[in-house]
This record gives sequence, C-alpha cells and structure tokens, in this order.
Amino acid sequence: MKIAIIGVGYVGLVSGVCLSEVGHHVTCVDLNTQKIDKLNQNIMPIYEPRLSDMVAANRASGRLHFTTDLAAALNKTDAAFVAVGTPSRESDGHADLSQVYAAAESIAEQAAKPLVIINKSTVPVGTGDEVESIVKEARPELHFDIVSNPEFLREGAAIKDFMTPDRIVIGVESDYAKAIMAEIYAPFAQEGYPILYVNRRTSELTKYAANSYLALKLAYINEVADLCEVVGADIKGVSKGIGLDSRIGEKFVNAGPGYGGSCFPKDTLALVRTAQDHERPLRLIEMIVSSNGYRKRAMSRKIAHMCENQIKGKKIAILGLTFKPNTDDMREAPSISIIQGLQDMGAKISAYDPQGIENAKSYLKNVTYCKSILACVENADVAVIVTEWDEFRELPFAEMRAKMRSSVLVDLRNLYEGKTLNAHGFDYQCVGRPLET
Ligand code: NAD
Repeated sequence: MKIAIIGVGYVGLVSGVCLSEVGHHVTCVDLNTQKIDKLNQNIMPIYEPRLSDMVAANRASGRLHFTTDLAAALNKTDAAFVAVGTPSRESDGHADLSQVYAAAESIAEQAAKPLVIINKSTVPVGTGDEVESIVKEARPELHFDIVSNPEFLREGAAIKDFMTPDRIVIGVESDYAKAIMAEIYAPFAQEGYPILYVNRRTSELTKYAANSYLALKLAYINEVADLCEVVGADIKGVSKGIGLDSRIGEKFVNAGPGYGGSCFPKDTLALVRTAQDHERPLRLIEMIVSSNGYRKRAMSRKIAHMCENQIKGKKIAILGLTFKPNTDDMREAPSISIIQGLQDMGAKISAYDPQGIENAKSYLKNVTYCKSILACVENADVAVIVTEWDEFRELPFAEMRAKMRSSVLVDLRNLYEGKTLNAHGFDYQCVGRPLET
C-alpha cells in the first residue's frame, strides 16, 4: 500500500520506517526543510537505537522517501497518517491541537483521491470529529474517512515497540476505513499481534487512559519511596514485593526523580482538562500531576540536604540529562527542574549525557557540558545520577573519587547499594531508603 506520514518526529519517523520495513511504500512529509534534507542524506534528526540503519536500508530498497512536498506525497496515496506534535497549551494545559488542525487543512487542500486520514498524534477524545468537519468544510466533494490509531511506542525502544506491539488500537467509523487499516496492519496481524477495533472516541481516550495509568503507577511508587525514607523501609524491597504480584506487575514500580518526557506530563494534564470540561473530574490524575511537579524540584532539596544545605558555590556534577536512557529527548526531563533548583540555591553545574547535550542547551543556561563522566566530576563536591544510562551502571568509582573534591554521590535511580559506594569512600544517598544524616 502507498502511505503518507505527515510529521517526521519521533513517532512519524519511526512509524514511517517500520511501515516501509513491512513492505509498504511510505513517503514522510515535514515542514522542516532542514530535517528532510538531513534524512535524505541518511542523517538522523533524533537518536533512537537501530533507526539509522533501518532508514538507510529502506531508502535503498526504494520504499521510503522524505519530502516537504505534501501534494506529491498524497498523489496516489490511499492513507495518510498524521503524527504532528500536540504539546500542552501554555495558557491552560489543554492539548494544543493547532498542528493537527493545520495538517488536516493542508491534507484536505492537497488530497488527490479518496483518502483515509489516520490520526497517530495523541489527541483528546472528540478531536477526530473536529478534524472531520475541517476536512469536510475545506473539500465538500472529497471522499475521506478519519481514523484514530494512537501510538504506544516508548522512546529508546521505539523500533522494537512498533515492530512487536503489545496491541494496536484502531478507532474506525466505517467498513472501508476498517478494511484499509486491516491492510496496513496485515503484516502485524499475521504475526499474531493483537489488533483492537473500537470506535474513534474510544480509541482516542484509550491512549490517555493508558499513559495516565502508567504515570499513576510511577507517582504512587515515588510517594511510597518518600514514606520509606522516614520509616526505615527500603523501596527496592517494597517494589519487588508488590511487583511480583501479577495483578500489579514488575514494570513501572521503580522509584526515581519523577516522570518526565514528551508524553506523560502533557497527556496527564490534558486528560485532567478534558475530564473537567465534561464535569467528570479525574481527581486521582489531578493529584499525580501535582505530586510529580512537586517531586522534580524537591530532588534539588534532597541533594542540598546531603550537603547540609550548604549549596552556594558548590560544584555539582549531573550524570544524565535526558528524561530516560537511549534517547536525546529533553522535553520535561527531571534534570531541568533539578538543575534549575540547584542553580537557584547558588550551585555551579557541570553535566554529562551520552546523547542529550545538544538538546539540553536550549533548556538550561549556565551549565558546563562535559564530554565524559570523569571530566564532569572533576573538582565536584557532589555527583548526582539523574538518568539510568547503561554507562552509569558501571561507574569508575576509584577514578571519580580521585577527581572529586568531596565525596557525596546521590543516586536518583537507585542503581547502587550503599555498602558498595561506602567501600569506595562515597557518602551515598539514593531514593526511598532512610536518609543518613
Ligand atoms: P515531534 O515534535 O518530535 O514531531 C512532530 C513533527 O511534526 C515535527 O517534525 C514538525 O515539524 C512536524 N509538523 C508539524 N506540523 C506539520 C505539518 N502541518 N506538516 C508536516 N509536518 C508537520 O513529535 P513526536 O514526539 O513525534 O509526537 C507526535 C505525536 O505523537 C504527539 O501527539 C505525541 O503526543 C504522540 N506520541 C509521542 C510519543 C513519543 O514518545 N514521542 C509516543 C507516543 C505518542
């Protein structure tokens, strides 16, 4: 099948390359000329494991193309995925749908034949109806269908998640659209991956319900971790103890500095606003939004506590900037609130991240970016592990201790045991274990 993808970000690019990998002819379109030029030279605009090789292979096969020309991409296309951004609207936290609506208008203007428009962006329930009226108004004579097909991939494991999904959720309102979607996902159905057909509104809401549930698990375990610190319990044991219950599960029960990223913070907030608008407030989700917002900056106070609150003029080495490992995405990363909190207390910050430094520069000021762990901790009073990159699971303790001015190591991802670190001469603190004073 011939497919167009509108929006070549984390989701659009990964979806495009994976759909071409399973045999479709895919043309990816973006407004960003630089991005498209780079992709046409096999230079990836984002970091994602396996992406570069797969893009190169599928371009070479002739099944994957990148362009800024929407009309050319839609020519002879049966289906167009929309994968543009839906960030939080700054004024009120609702999802900002301007990119989705603008894309819908452009598609309507340029469509050359009957088309199924598939919304892959995360959008509030009812957005499909609005997109339908936009297209109808712009092109009353055009035969089209609007489908919801939210994306559940995780950055850092995006290719794997797309190619081996837990499920594919499709919200359709017509048999024709259902048949087109069945054809697109036939290679996945043949492999036995569950495909769930529901109505469009159900599909739209499923995405928010899933993300908010995952965020809820994280906010919950983080609050339990705080309780552990004052009652002499160990969050690692608690996580193991609850995670082995199959009704709870072992994933998303690890305590940390608070969730971040381009999805959980904006999607929980957007769901809160949708529920309020329908006068069915989701109090639980309102609570986790506030709990997580509080937590990220609170981590800077936890670090300060390890320095007896004498932070002014101290050099703090931050290990890990991105919101999770194996990505370069800095959106809503806990490191931002933590670093800003420490800077507000007068600390000097050095930072190292395997992939995130270039993006971090647009979020953080007055940070000394370093090319290695050892350069980052040189003369530091405190080292803080913020992101659980594999590289930080085997830190060179002896060399670090020799380079550092003082001996405090704060591990916000609970990668280590206190005993090991104490043996290397560090004062160690993690999350969810009694605070040593
Ligand atoms: P992104 O910001 O990385 O990419 C969006 C792209 O769309 C940009 O390259 C932008 O230039 C392009 N664009 C905007 N308007 C356009 C238009 N009219 N025509 C062509 N291109 C246009 O966004 P993302 O992280 O890929 O997220 C896209 C959507 O997918 C969002 O709704 C997000 O919530 C959802 N989502 C994201 C993830 C994730 O992990 N990033 C996972 C699941 C779902």
